[in-house]
Amino acid sequence: MINKPRGTEDILPSDSPIWRKIEQAAHEVCRLHGFKEIRTPVFEDTSLFQRGVGDTTDVVQKEMYTFEDKGGRSITLRPEGTASLARSFIENSFYANPQPTKLYYLISCYRYEKPQSGRLREFHQFGIECFGGTSDATDAEVITLAMSFFERLGVKNLKLNLNSIGCPVCKKAYNEKLKAYFEDYKDQLCETCKTRLEKNPMRIIDCKSEVCSKIAEKAPKMIDNLCDDCKEHFEKTTAYLDALGIEYEINPDIVRGLDYYTRTVFEITSDALGAQSTVCGGGRYNGLIEELGGKPTEGIGFAVGLERLIMIMKAQGLCNDNDSATDIFVASIGDKADIFAQKLVYDLRKLHIAAERDLCGRSVKAQMKFANKLNSKYSIVLGDDEIDNNSAKLKNMDTGESFDVELTAEKLAEIIK
Ligand code: ATP
Ligand code: MG
Repeated sequence: MINKPRGTEDILPSDSPIWRKIEQAAHEVCRLHGFKEIRTPVFEDTSLFQRGVGDTTDVVQKEMYTFEDKGGRSITLRPEGTASLARSFIENSFYANPQPTKLYYLISCYRYEKPQSGRLREFHQFGIECFGGTSDATDAEVITLAMSFFERLGVKNLKLNLNSIGCPVCKKAYNEKLKAYFEDYKDQLCETCKTRLEKNPMRIIDCKSEVCSKIAEKAPKMIDNLCDDCKEHFEKTTAYLDALGIEYEINPDIVRGLDYYTRTVFEITSDALGAQSTVCGGGRYNGLIEELGGKPTEGIGFAVGLERLIMIMKAQGLCNDNDSATDIFVASIGDKADIFAQKLVYDLRKLHIAAERDLCGRSVKAQMKFANKLNSKYSIVLGDDEIDNNSAKLKNMDTGESFDVELTAEKLAEIIK
């Protein structure tokens, strides 16, 4: 037997309704906020992620599915959505349109991680990006979209953690401070963080190793070292959230895993998740478009991990949707009725009635048992007499009541609807 690859999951029919519910909520919330859907390739040129996500990140250093294709190109399965959207924004000259450009995506992502609860190698994200919004209100707009999405799904007890990680100006001075601080603990840092110390000391704050995170606890915080512009931006962002009554907590330790972030960063967490508690991560990345060769353009977005969202929704009893049951089961006896039944379900389906019939050569008794299993609302049994008289007994499977009906798809559809 061949099994699914480690870290992947089949989304089974029993779970499909909840996936559809989530996808519909995403489409609807985005429509209300004026965000348009975009679909980009599952694989991209490896250099897109090296530059767009950042060489010093865990994602690029350890987690990418990278391979050479038959033409000798280095290809990577997308580990996230933002870099691809930024590429597409540049490639399709979206900056020529009136700004901002508001986009959203529902995608699968690939990261070579150690599979565990809430951590897969193939997982799914709903994310949005707003490019070219220069006003401070953009940050509030993006954060509120995320909160509205969760609210629409009925998800409760989420925590919005907010921070600012400054701009290249204040980050530079801060990085020097940080470097000086970590220098004293250099021998204790993990091997990855030793190189981070030289290239990007802020990454150490995001390290998952126990020793490194312990050391990082007392490190200087970016939020206390913002330049005046960044400070003002952060104050404005929180002022919008206060006005909208959106609760948040300022968490100075959020730096986000990806290199391209500037200023606002946020994570939405849930106690229902255990160790992998973050269901949504986002922030501003003003340098990204330029880094990828485009004109300087502001950007801000977030991504929600859908498997983690479903874990929360299951814990909160929000996954009770069923796939809509069968409206009518058409049972038949004999060859004539067999053909008639096939035509009848064909016609009923055209009239938007979910009609089923037996495809396994069952006896009438077994067909009725099967109709029960399908949870069919109505059933009807056809034999030669019914067809000759153009009349049959329609049974309401909930109440057990039966009544005579004319044997046409239109008449049946009228009653069932
Ligand atoms: P983590 O700290 O948990 O590794 P991250 O910072 O790497 O998360 P992002 O790159 O911000 O995650 O991705 C956004 C969201 O996608 C996460 O908040 C999470 O919900 C989800 N996610 C990330 N990696 C995985 C994974 N391997 N399996 C399932 N969901 C994931
Ligand atoms: Mg990660």
